[in-house]
Amino acid sequence: MDASLPHTRGVRDSKARFCDCGLKIAGTDSHQVCSSCLGLEHAQEGIDDPDSCGHCAHLTIKSLHRRLA
Ligand SMILES: [Zn+2]
Ligand SMILES: [Zn+2]
Repeated sequence: MDASLPHTRGVRDSKARFCDCGLKIAGTDSHQVCSSCLGLEHAQEGIDDPDSCGHCAHLTIKSLHRRLA
């Protein structure tokens, strides 16, 4: 199956996937939906209380802040 996939040069984020809305979800992000669908509130929660979400807990503060930008 893998052999049929296009070999795209420069794409290192092989674990990246797509949200139902069509936006890309980073391979490092274990949420089921993209940051846009999660909303800014969720991103803020992840910063204020990383324990509130097991997925956010795996993300760095830096990447969480980037969502708020
Ligand atoms: Zn989405
Ligand atoms: Zn989260």
